[in-house]
Amino acid sequence: MRWTDFLLPTLKETPAEAETQSHKLMLRAGLIRKLSSGIYNMLPLGLRVTQKVASIVREEMNRIGALEILMPVLSPAELWEESGRWGIYGKELMRVRDRHGRFFALGPTHEEIVTDIIRGEVRSYRQLPLTLYQIQTKFRDEVRPRFGVVRAREFLMKDAYSFHRDEASLAETYDKMYEAYTRIFTRCGLRFGSVEADSGAIGGDVTHEFMVFAETGESQVFACDCGYAATEDTAECVIDVPEGSEEAQGLEKVETPGMKTVEEVTAFLKKEPRQLIKTIVYNVEGEYVAVLIRGDREINEIKLAKVLGSPNIGMATAEDIEKVTGGPLGFSGPVGLKDVRIIADRTVTGACNMVTGANEADAHYVNVTLGRDFEVTGFHDLVLVEAGDICTRCGKPLGTWRGIEVGQIFKLGTKYSEIMKATFLDEQGKEHPFVMGCYGIGVTRTVAAAIEQHNDKDGISWPISIAPFEVHVLPTNVTVPELKDTAEAIYDGLMAEGIQVLLDDRDERPGNKFKDADLVGIPIRVTVGEKSLKEGKVEIRMRKSGEVTKIEKGDAVAHIAEVVREEKKKLEA
Ligand code: ATP
Ligand code: MG
Repeated sequence: MRWTDFLLPTLKETPAEAETQSHKLMLRAGLIRKLSSGIYNMLPLGLRVTQKVASIVREEMNRIGALEILMPVLSPAELWEESGRWGIYGKELMRVRDRHGRFFALGPTHEEIVTDIIRGEVRSYRQLPLTLYQIQTKFRDEVRPRFGVVRAREFLMKDAYSFHRDEASLAETYDKMYEAYTRIFTRCGLRFGSVEADSGAIGGDVTHEFMVFAETGESQVFACDCGYAATEDTAECVIDVPEGSEEAQGLEKVETPGMKTVEEVTAFLKKEPRQLIKTIVYNVEGEYVAVLIRGDREINEIKLAKVLGSPNIGMATAEDIEKVTGGPLGFSGPVGLKDVRIIADRTVTGACNMVTGANEADAHYVNVTLGRDFEVTGFHDLVLVEAGDICTRCGKPLGTWRGIEVGQIFKLGTKYSEIMKATFLDEQGKEHPFVMGCYGIGVTRTVAAAIEQHNDKDGISWPISIAPFEVHVLPTNVTVPELKDTAEAIYDGLMAEGIQVLLDDRDERPGNKFKDADLVGIPIRVTVGEKSLKEGKVEIRMRKSGEVTKIEKGDAVAHIAEVVREEKKKLEA
């Protein structure tokens, strides 16, 4: 490709709207342009990279026997009503109406649609297992679209769905997918980890997320040397509870004027935060539940939602708290709390001589003791894990890192097949619901994640497997015929070798061309400059290392072709 025939609008200035390196560089290097919040145009350079990532994904899906299909973006509301997700999915689901007034969802994921295909087409156990996938535009009306294509409202996803007769068959495909994902992200040149995760709106019990290591990542991971790794949403830790040797003192109400926070109350009473029990009232679809946790810890609302069996939980308003507990916000406690379900985190186990709110203004209880002063209906793991907490598997402290979620795989079980009555017949002619798995990769998010890992102060530095071009030929002055002709000859020679080449044939100052080359980040640059050419040589420069080699111009094509092969080999999985 000749630069003068291409659309490659690079920007000198960093756009103010961009916070992360990948977002800035995708704009500056002319990969994307914003159309509206969370909605982007993919320009030619951006599309080339996206298509390369998509090809790697496609190759690895095909390799494990998944079949490519294409489902519509528009999916009828009836299917979503069947699964119950028309209601549950909430505002993230984009909805449109046709001329007849019928509702459709713009697909954010396709479990309902693929289940509908399979229940119509597959009847026998003999046709199983079966895995279908597509690479398609998805729509999610994110609350806070940000970081460019990392969290967009319209983005490209690979989604795959597998159908099985039993859990054992699902486990086999799940493992194959896990390996395929590992190959995909390795081939894309990414450093990543896989972690146990929460299944969110998709559902199911077993799920792993693939995270690209990145400081700007929205996901916090807790990990241990023993191999345990989980997202903040699901991470577990050992909880230190008192041995129970303490003697319970008499319950006492004390004045705590205007003191609402753990810090205020414990400082005033000369106690530690871990000697207090926080009582937080939640509204669970109209029912109130008091949740107890020790004062030095925070509640993980994802764990809580699971325990309460509803995604729709929220803290009760000050007004509701007053109604439910009889006291104002900041003074709630379990002692004497009636007609409200009370559950507790494991940190409250064996609670003895603790501080709690007294359910009246400006008062707390001290020496509150479990079993004598209050009861709970159950203990659960509700704690938000922190770095340094103890690993449940090996007893060592957990470390932490941040990442960008690029893929997630789920064992769904029969969640969709049962409710949508998708069944097959076994050898005996007996009907069973399909056992299902589903597997997503954010293709456009992966492009951004790659930039997040592969950049420096001058711009992007692509891994060759997903680079928009493999070689960048840069004549420093196209008005000098010898430079121009040499560059053209190398360009033609490389193209004949099947190499993807960008020729910067612009009549521009060399300084600008070099700047643009570094910004755009093609891994191998060939500079055809006056000084070297006087000695019959051209310069090969590696974008990542900055390493420069001078080569006889006659040997350039063969040499570069070899370098391209070597670079590609490094990224084979
Ligand atoms: P997140 O937690 O980041 O919102 P998710 O868990 O809801 O993502 P999945 O339903 O697992 O996402 O979708 C599969 C993949 O699609 C994700 O791993 C991610 O790479 C990508 N993806 C999800 N939402 C977006 C988005 N808003 N913009 C770009 N890519 C996305
Ligand atoms: Mg996910």
